[in-house]
Amino acid sequence: MMKRPGTAAAAAILLAISLVLSGCTASRLNPAGGVDPRALLAEFSGRGMMGHLEALQRIADDNGGNRAAGTSGYEASGRYVEEQLRAAGYTPVRQTFTFRGDGRNRKQVETFNILAETGGSAENTVVVGGHLDSVEDGPGINDNGSGVAAILETAKWMKEKGITPVNRVVFAFWGAEENDLDGSRHYVNELSKAEKDQTAAYLNVDMAASPNGVRSFHDGDGSDFGHAGPKGSDGIEAVFFRFFESNSLPAETTPFVDGDSDYDPFLRAGIPGGGLFTGEEKKKTKAQVQAYGGVAGKVLDSCYHRACDTTSNINADLFKEMSAAMAYATASYALAPRG
Ligand SMILES: [Zn+2]
Repeated sequence: MMKRPGTAAAAAILLAISLVLSGCTASRLNPAGGVDPRALLAEFSGRGMMGHLEALQRIADDNGGNRAAGTSGYEASGRYVEEQLRAAGYTPVRQTFTFRGDGRNRKQVETFNILAETGGSAENTVVVGGHLDSVEDGPGINDNGSGVAAILETAKWMKEKGITPVNRVVFAFWGAEENDLDGSRHYVNELSKAEKDQTAAYLNVDMAASPNGVRSFHDGDGSDFGHAGPKGSDGIEAVFFRFFESNSLPAETTPFVDGDSDYDPFLRAGIPGGGLFTGEEKKKTKAQVQAYGGVAGKVLDSCYHRACDTTSNINADLFKEMSAAMAYATASYALAPRG
């Protein structure tokens, strides 16, 4: 994903403007206002996201150093996520599909997504997803073990708090994102026209703990980068904005980039989307250092898609903040009054 350089002040003004604009547009589902963003941040400071990264690291170590789709490392990652979901009281299901492998004969490889849903009305379904697979070159702990951990803790937190969703939430762990977004595309392709219409929001998290990272969320209304998501994406942007603003945490928007992550198939199907991203190959600007700390001129994640994307490649503070932001957006949509 690309990020536009700019001053922190300019970013703040742009965010303020986009919030005002998004307030003018009616979305199908208006997120509930009752979830407390500050309490959530405090709560997530003590939650077990790091434990999931340690487990995924061990899995990679035991399976040739990666967790790529179609490998034993991916299978073990899938089993770990299923165990976690079951222990929390969910009933995860595997959705299998095939993708074209990278080998010389490019033969079809079978892999899977993992889906777990809450109760609540399917008429306004909220899908919360991130990819579970890594590249073949490394263990994929920031990309995207961090997103997996944020979703798992969101799912566990909702059960522990006894939150009863008004709108059904589907927690999704996608396979073969690193190939060609195959898992999320398969999920969207399998939806009927009616099911697409009933999907009120897709919330994505792909890289939530970049070591030299930034707090960013997608420019749903297109006011900053000119690439708006389907109607309702503005509301998703506004929810994330509210979380960071309420916690006095500087943040910026990031554009939707075609083919870049699992939001893409949803947006193409007309489903409102958004989500979180802490950065990969772009260099940190001086303005970003002023806003977030870190090292100017150094890339946001120097281990992106490399063997060094391990548990040492994690910004722990950012990880907690982004995980709490995901829980906030998820609960706000889960509890949204039906529009
Ligand atoms: Zn990724």
